[in-house]
Amino acid sequence: MAIASDKTFFIDPARCIGCQACVQACSECATHRGQSMIHLEYIDRRHSPQTVPVVCMHCDSPTCAEVCPADAIKRTDDGVVQTARKPRCIACNNCVLACPFGVPKMDAGANLMMKCDMCYDRTSEGLKPWCASVCPSQALFWGTREEIEKLRPSSKPANAFQFGNQTIHTKVQMMVPRGPINLIDAIASLNSTAVSHEVTDDILLSNLFEPDPSPLPQNR
Ligand code: SF4
Ligand code: SF4
Repeated sequence: MAIASDKTFFIDPARCIGCQACVQACSECATHRGQSMIHLEYIDRRHSPQTVPVVCMHCDSPTCAEVCPADAIKRTDDGVVQTARKPRCIACNNCVLACPFGVPKMDAGANLMMKCDMCYDRTSEGLKPWCASVCPSQALFWGTREEIEKLRPSSKPANAFQFGNQTIHTKVQMMVPRGPINLIDAIASLNSTAVSHEVTDDILLSNLFEPDPSPLPQNR
């Protein structure tokens, strides 16, 4: 069992409509007992309702595994970083603190770190992850690079993230506007202002209170 080498997971934040279907679908998976391994973040809630789905990015050199003193987190040959192995995890929270994307969660009841494993039971059998199978806007997309580039010609996948002096490459790809961006500067994006599409009611109100310049035709 392994994931087909040409398939991967794409996140297209601009298409997320915040419906939470992915969160619900993930929480219904029997392997993690009612907990969702995906969550939504608001990009800048003060200025925009835009949300972005957050899953494990499946780093090529996973910091979570590097800081685990119990060697409980394994990365399979097909590039998927598995959730912590229960017999090994000592619930020290190192991975929770170290992950640059804020992904692992500690299940205090089970004393076990849990995180997205890209629905390995499904994807290694040729099926889509649950979240990608329910996302109505395809903000979460499972397929090949060729498929997504054909479907979305104005964007392109990127999988290099800059955190200070460190560059992290991931199996999961983030869709960015087509152009010169090849490296996503995570710190700079935290400090940038969200592009908001402000909706005002000025036009509606002015039309309501201004006299209609075209009088109704008179019946003769
Ligand atoms: S995103 Fe976080 S949890 Fe996922 S592999 Fe990278 S360091 Fe580990
Ligand atoms: S299902 Fe898709 S659109 Fe809905 S919240 Fe999740 S990522 Fe966003």
